[in-house]
Amino acid sequence: MKATITLFPVDDGDMTLMQLADEDKTCLLIDCKIRSAADDGEDDTPDVAHELRKRIKTDNNNRPYVDTMLLSHPDEDHCLGLRNHFWLGPVSEYADDDKPQSEKRIIIRQLWSSPIVFRRATKKQPLCDDAEAFKAEAKRRVTANLKSKFSVSDGDKILILGEDENGKTDDLTPILIKCGERIQGVNGQATEYLSAHLLAPIGMQDDDQEEVLSKNNSSVIINYEVKNSAFSDHGSRFLSGGDAEVEIWERISDEYEATDLEYDLLQAPHHCSWRSLSHDSWSKKGEDAKVSTKALSALGQARKGAIIVSSSRPIVDDKNDPPCIRAKREYRSILGSSGIFKCTGEEPTTSNPAPLKIEVASSGFVLAVGASAAAAVTSSKPPRAGRWR
Ligand SMILES: [Zn+2]
Repeated sequence: MKATITLFPVDDGDMTLMQLADEDKTCLLIDCKIRSAADDGEDDTPDVAHELRKRIKTDNNNRPYVDTMLLSHPDEDHCLGLRNHFWLGPVSEYADDDKPQSEKRIIIRQLWSSPIVFRRATKKQPLCDDAEAFKAEAKRRVTANLKSKFSVSDGDKILILGEDENGKTDDLTPILIKCGERIQGVNGQATEYLSAHLLAPIGMQDDDQEEVLSKNNSSVIINYEVKNSAFSDHGSRFLSGGDAEVEIWERISDEYEATDLEYDLLQAPHHCSWRSLSHDSWSKKGEDAKVSTKALSALGQARKGAIIVSSSRPIVDDKNDPPCIRAKREYRSILGSSGIFKCTGEEPTTSNPAPLKIEVASSGFVLAVGASAAAAVTSSKPPRAGRWR
């Protein structure tokens, strides 16, 4: 069995499912964006909740679950639909056993959360309701961990990614992953199939202007190394950085070696935004806008045959940003002739996009056969008992 990464068509937003090649088919979800229109059987917005539920597992009680869920940062296009589709609260109080399977909320066995991205986001603007709910759930799990000296069950587990300010995470050592460290297991289980290198959020430095980090979208950035076999020497790298913008990628370029940043699959940051590559405005400066060589260096470590995916609406040649046509051109030139650029809003067609499935290969990643074309045929919405609201 091969490990797979599926990117769901959610317009400008992220929702990515990683399924490992282990016997348990371990599932990691990065962000979610499930619009009410996607839940509406009468609307032709792709029903990504149905597509997600088809792919994840159910436990002994027939409850759907994912092993982990990461929120890259608390913007609405990365957590919309959380309260409607995911169980928040102790699993002992799970209330959906009598509901139709398609309406049971999904259990998140282990949450991956970063306090610092919440701190930076709240300085900028208030959180949306789903982000507030994620934050409250993370808080509940941290309290449960402290209460039981970090011996908790599935549904209460949490990993804290990156240290918080002013020593606020100092008493959370058993569940804290510091920036630059690797996450070796999933949901508390060691695995040979995945190693995740946490690159950001990077802490403040003395000469940082707080404004620089807070006003730009600060996100969790992880370079995942995925293997098809526990005995394989080779891992395929997936670099995923939410909506991190140019200042963050410049810092990443300073902080890490080029080899740390190498990838076989890159999710083009911030839905293929020009702002991840440049300090200049695309709509104002157009072709005169300058690329940051440092940011380009951080995002330019593509291995031969790499794939770059923009999780966005179709990319058209206009002044829009994101997604930005010139950012797409930059990514294409990073890839050279051996790489592939894809956009979730265009696969297999712009009128009927379907989940884009990418498989781990012996070297790098490949588009799964009929990656999204086969799915498109069956992507019409199933009848449902009721609508999510
Ligand atoms: Zn976003």
